[in-house]
Formats: sequence, structure tokens, C-alpha cells
Amino acid sequence: MRQRLIFATGNAGKMREIRDILGDLGYEICSMKEAGIDVEIEENGQTFEENALIKARTVAACCRDLVLADDSGLEVDYLGRAPGIYSARFMGEDTSYDIKNAAILEKLEGVPKEQRTARFVCAIAAVLPDKRELTVRATVEGYIGWEPAGENGFGYDPIFYVDAYGCSTAQLSMEQKNEISHRGKALRKMREKLEERTEEI
Ligand code: IMP
Repeated sequence: MRQRLIFATGNAGKMREIRDILGDLGYEICSMKEAGIDVEIEENGQTFEENALIKARTVAACCRDLVLADDSGLEVDYLGRAPGIYSARFMGEDTSYDIKNAAILEKLEGVPKEQRTARFVCAIAAVLPDKRELTVRATVEGYIGWEPAGENGFGYDPIFYVDAYGCSTAQLSMEQKNEISHRGKALRKMREKLEERTEEI
């Protein structure tokens, strides 16, 4: 029987990306729900890595499988790297991203491009079956534009612009975004680390 890799998320979009990037590592890839794990996770870390580790450890405590979890967010330099680890909770979890994005654009009104730098950050943590832990971090650098644009993606994508494409990440196709995205890059880094350890696991 194949070993299981459980990703501590309920997000279908993330599961698709994970299957795409880690699919051929030889594991049976499951979401928490597919693995029959239903636990409350208290995300009270102070860094992306801490939060990813908290999620992975909570799920790992319920099984003997390889568990991965991620934590991500947007850092806007002009706002002291806010919303950062509070990206999902910024202005309230239930507030729409149209409102959150408009608020960020307003805070940056009149700010020149050089000072509008921002990045998406993604940390991924793994807890191995023997409870050893690994973390990786990756970013995609960009800037906050002057107006929202694009219908793809989610969250802060409509206001996050990348120079490589000269448009917002909400204007990129899923393939284009996965290639440059913080999560895509972090998943590929984690894939390398897991490949190094495949013999040991
Ligand atoms: P989490 O890692 O699922 O907790 O996501 C944190 C939050 O960061 C999301 O709810 C979004 O607000 C934001 N975020 C993370 N990655 C992206 C992205 O690729 N595009 C837009 N927003 C993102």
C-alpha cells in the first residue's frame, strides 16, 4: 500500500496545485477530509513558518502519515509588511476582498511605484512519520497597483502586480500563476526536500 501524504487544508484549489506538483512522488495524496481527520486548528503563531508548523503538527498528532501544511499572505512594505500573517483576518475574515483590496489601495493613495513594493509569502511545513519537521519558504515579489484588475485567482490577486507580466496576478492564467507563485515555488522546494528523504521515510 502506498504511503499517505495528508495536506492540512480544506481548500480544493490548493489540493489541485499540490496534486499537480507532488503527484508523482509516489504518495497517495489526501486532504484532511479525505483522510477522515477533523480537528480544530488554532493559528496563533507569529510567523508564516510557525503557523504552518502548528497546522501540520495538529494533524500529525492524529495519524502516522506524512503531513504537510502551508501558511501564506501578502506583505506590503509601505504598511510595515501588513497584512502579513493576518492576511485572511485583515478587516475581518468575512469581509469581502473587494473591500479589503479597496482599503489597501486607499492607504497607498499618492504613493509612488518604488514605495509600493509587496510580496506574497508562502511557508510550507512537513511533519514526517517519525515526527521530524521541515519548513520551506518562498516569495513572489511585486507591487500594489493603482486599481484592481483581473478575474482569475482569489484574495489580493487583483491588486498585486508583477513586473514580469506587467499585470496583476488575477490577470494570469492558472498555469502562469503556478509557475511564478509563492505556493508553487514553495511546493517545488518541499518536493526537493522530500525527494532527498524518500529513502529514509
Ligand atoms: P492561507 O494561507 O490559506 O491562510 O491564506 C492566507 C491569505 O493570504 C488568503 O486568505 C489570502 O488573503 C492571502 N493570499 C495567500 N496567497 C494568495 C494568492 O496567491 N493570491 C491572493 N491572495 C493570497
